[in-house]
Amino acid sequence: MFKLTHPKLVTLAETEGYAEIADFLEDYAQGSIVPAICMAPDCDHTAELEPDQRADFREACGRPSMKCGLVIAGMN
Ligand SMILES: [Zn+2]
Repeated sequence: MFKLTHPKLVTLAETEGYAEIADFLEDYAQGSIVPAICMAPDCDHTAELEPDQRADFREACGRPSMKCGLVIAGMN
């Protein structure tokens, strides 16, 4: 079951320039780089995540709370 209405997913898609979350997910589902967003309630930090570089993402945000869009949607 995909969760396409998660507020963080909406924010992430909008940040990447997508009006439709479905379009956002379709474009990135097969890609090697996936946008990620911080899941902390008071932070909307985004970054582009390569699957083998999760450590770099934590540094970008300063907290271990970055989650990629596909994971938030339940697709990965
Ligand atoms: Zn953050």
